Amino acid sequence: MALRPVKQHLQNYFNSKSASSYKETRNGLDGLSYSTKFSPWLSNGSISARQIISELQKYETEVEANESTYWIYFELLWREYFQWYAHSHRAKLFKFNGIKNTNPTTSFYPERFQKWCRGNTPYPIVNACMKQLNATGYMSNRGRQLVASCFVHELNLDWRYGAAYMEQQLIDYDVASNWGNWQYLAGVGADPRGHRRFDLEKQTQIYDPERLFIKRWGGDQNLEPLDSRDTVDWPI
Ligand SMILES: Cc1cc2nc3c(=O)[nH]c(=O)nc-3n(C[C@H](O)[C@H](O)[C@H](O)COP(=O)(O)OP(=O)(O)OC[C@H]3O[C@@H](n4cnc5c(N)ncnc54)[C@H](O)[C@@H]3O)c2cc1C
Repeated sequence: MALRPVKQHLQNYFNSKSASSYKETRNGLDGLSYSTKFSPWLSNGSISARQIISELQKYETEVEANESTYWIYFELLWREYFQWYAHSHRAKLFKFNGIKNTNPTTSFYPERFQKWCRGNTPYPIVNACMKQLNATGYMSNRGRQLVASCFVHELNLDWRYGAAYMEQQLIDYDVASNWGNWQYLAGVGADPRGHRRFDLEKQTQIYDPERLFIKRWGGDQNLEPLDSRDTVDWPI
């Protein structure tokens, strides 16, 4: 009898050697094997973190245990953390000021929001990630961090609109992981270091040095300035 797709994926992943190099590859932007891709099945409940950990431990006993195999466990702990975070903070998960006492200084600019959603911002790496999300329903963890940082820090947008857009687009949408990570990056969540602003050009040099990902997803096409009108509503 054929295995269900999720069982097949679990088996294929641990039959390959990908788990042994996960820590080195996990920040990839494109492709199947740089990260586990368990998230769509975790989010719809057809597999549990325990089932994955059980296969992971089998791999560690029979094949190899190293920093990378530990790191898969560590990332699943982040998921666990956000589940309990959501459970504990309840409606605060969706509030502008999150679990903090003061509101961020960001706002809502419809034009900027639309450009971010479509992948037409002045930032090629962000555009590529957004186009990938729109075409596939998936975006890497590194990509999610970059587009969220851009949303909050470069576009000065209210983080909740970004979280809501991802809620609509992601095939692995999970209420706790999505809204919890957005809060974390917007500086209104659990991150003790506060605002996480990524230097997008530096991140491009590290994670897409030959700009292959950007080219593949057309991130450098149709670059547009952030605003078409100035603060007194004159066309720029
Ligand atoms: C702004 C933002 C929004 C996100 N929204 C979601 C979401 O809606 N649903 C979702 O499942 N994940 C979300 N994540 C977390 C993470 O990006 C995805 O879980 C991961 O990219 C899924 O791919 P993977 O299964 O190959 O991950 P891997 O790198 O292989 O990680 C293994 C598993 O660990 C868990 N995990 C890894 N990183 C995180 C993290 N930062 N937070 C919580 N769990 C994590 C996931 O369950 C994942 O399947 C978000 C992250 C950010 C920064």
